[in-house]
Amino acid sequence: MKLVLMGLPGAGKGTQAEKIVAKYNIPHISTGDMFRAAIKNGTELGLKAKSFMDSGNLVPDDVTNGIVRECLAEDDAKDGFLLDGFPRTVEQAEELEKILSDLGTKLDAVINIQVNKDSLMTRLTGRWICPTCGKTYHEVFNPPKQAGICDVDGAKLYQREDDKAETVENRLNVNIKQTQPLLDFYGEKGTLFAVNGEQDIDLVFEDVNKILTSF
Ligand code: AMP
Repeated sequence: MKLVLMGLPGAGKGTQAEKIVAKYNIPHISTGDMFRAAIKNGTELGLKAKSFMDSGNLVPDDVTNGIVRECLAEDDAKDGFLLDGFPRTVEQAEELEKILSDLGTKLDAVINIQVNKDSLMTRLTGRWICPTCGKTYHEVFNPPKQAGICDVDGAKLYQREDDKAETVENRLNVNIKQTQPLLDFYGEKGTLFAVNGEQDIDLVFEDVNKILTSF
């Protein structure tokens, strides 16, 4: 099963990725995770990626494409893999086609977990944190007994800068703009499958499975 998983921030991509790799026993190739691990371990790759990641930019294609090529050439990726966070641009998608064709293979499917922007805003802006005990709440999905107040110690909850509406909306808009050309690219190739990500986690996974068992 050779897959690319796509989804905007908050769509539940990470959760579905975990379930897919566990059920189908394929390696989870997440470029973001690889870069974070490389930075933590102080490797040459980490040094190359750090400044781009810190400034919120994409790591240059020669670095990113290179590590994806290496990962896909590994033995454990021979029978399948789940790419997550790659490709992010049409140029990367084209390079991926080339890498796979060099390896004598191709993608089976690109799965896009679809959640509308309003739902993503609700999911991503609802987090509130207790400044004293660190307990986190969600306004809608896991609210405190009294709005804005920690159940444990009565402290006034706060919101991280990253979770504020304006920041989240910006991040989503950038992502939507970046993602659309990729969806068009795979849509035209006929490898794109959309899954309704507004449902419960298990139902989303059922829909993913229906697609993955259909070929
Ligand atoms: P992620 O965890 O997928 O959000 O990725 C975190 C960061 O890693 C991104 O903001 C980029 O700086 C870098 N990164 C991850 N994947 C790619 C990619 N396919 N191309 C370029 N940079 C990437």
